[in-house]
Amino acid sequence: MIDTSQFCGKKVAFHTLGCKLNFAETSVIGQMLFAEGFVRAKAGEQADICIINTCSVTNVADKKCRQAIHRLMERHPNAYIVVTGCYAQLKPDEVAQITGVDLVLGSNEKMALTDFLTHLDRNRRKQIHVGRTAKINAFQPACSADDRTRHFLKIQDGCNYYCSYCTIPLARGRSRNASIEQTLAVAQESIDRGAKEIVLTGVNIGAFETPKGETFLDLIKALDNLSGEVRFRISSIEPNLLRDEIIDFVKVSNHFAPHFHIPLQSGSNTILRLMRRRYTRELFAEKVKTVKRLMPDAFIGVDVMVGMRGETPDCFEETYAFLQELDITQMHVFTYSERNNTQALEIGYIVPQQERKRRSEALHRLSQEKTERFMDTQRGNSGIALWESGRRGEKMFGFTENYIRVEAPCDLSLINTFQSVVIT
Ligand code: SF4
Repeated sequence: MIDTSQFCGKKVAFHTLGCKLNFAETSVIGQMLFAEGFVRAKAGEQADICIINTCSVTNVADKKCRQAIHRLMERHPNAYIVVTGCYAQLKPDEVAQITGVDLVLGSNEKMALTDFLTHLDRNRRKQIHVGRTAKINAFQPACSADDRTRHFLKIQDGCNYYCSYCTIPLARGRSRNASIEQTLAVAQESIDRGAKEIVLTGVNIGAFETPKGETFLDLIKALDNLSGEVRFRISSIEPNLLRDEIIDFVKVSNHFAPHFHIPLQSGSNTILRLMRRRYTRELFAEKVKTVKRLMPDAFIGVDVMVGMRGETPDCFEETYAFLQELDITQMHVFTYSERNNTQALEIGYIVPQQERKRRSEALHRLSQEKTERFMDTQRGNSGIALWESGRRGEKMFGFTENYIRVEAPCDLSLINTFQSVVIT
């Protein structure tokens, strides 16, 4: 038994990097700590403990994590520093070498954080508790419950796909999820607490599957039956797992927004094969067409990676031309970076850094054109905005169901409420 009385009134500060899943998990860690007597450090207050939940999706992400750790240590010079998340799981020694880091926790261990905090008031001894990936199996559905209007519901974790460039399965283990009933209970609790918009998050959410054979489609149908005034969004879903039935259901559902985020990564089948992705560009194009046929105003966000090993100029041109034709709203462009322990390192053709940058810039420009074109089609349409934030006497901001950012003169009483708007 840990003596948790030592935690009472201790101030804790959080910093989260990376994906929405991390935000949901930080929120759960916070709830665990508050239940033990910790309180959140207010802005400007010195924290007794800092929790940094890291990301390791690229080398740039690793660097941003190191910078964030240093920033937090500067801001809270006497705090006990805990680093967890994907970077901690993948490179625990590198993290532990940072002077001032007290505790490094792996993906499994972070959900038992309080068990590791027994040294808070004793002589500090740097500790690393990071289990092997094969053992990463902890799962708990969770919903972020910060002050934000938009909540992130963790419905799934891990991935069995092992794309050749990706280290996420090494950091987060195999795909797993809770039952539909458990997931619904967490969602309903959030709705009862006032959540108006809930984004379903995970590493590979389309892989949701229960021992009873229920799938992601069954989950969203069940969520759609929950009571309360709420809107759901589906975050990134693999194209091969975005079954037509899911698209059909979103179209007729009560609560799901016409907003899709589908990772393409490359518009060249040669590169998709090298990436070990599980679809072709033709399948991807079909999915986009189906969404647009059923929901012409749907927002479609697409992830694209440039500079992957093997991506010759011809392959990139193929991707560019493919994306030009695709009826999508926005691209999230990532630049490939070499990651240890990935199969992509065996591919001989290396794209020079300068060329990776050029390709990224070209796609960013294309994305901007596509977004502007989409916005032009939306002028004059009406939508339902959920107002998220605003300042008295200034403007308030929100998003429509199809993820158009809208603004209006601020009326604080409307924050966290739905309102009909006309897009100008
Ligand atoms: S689907 Fe591929 S890119 Fe996505 S997490 Fe799994 S291995 Fe990584």
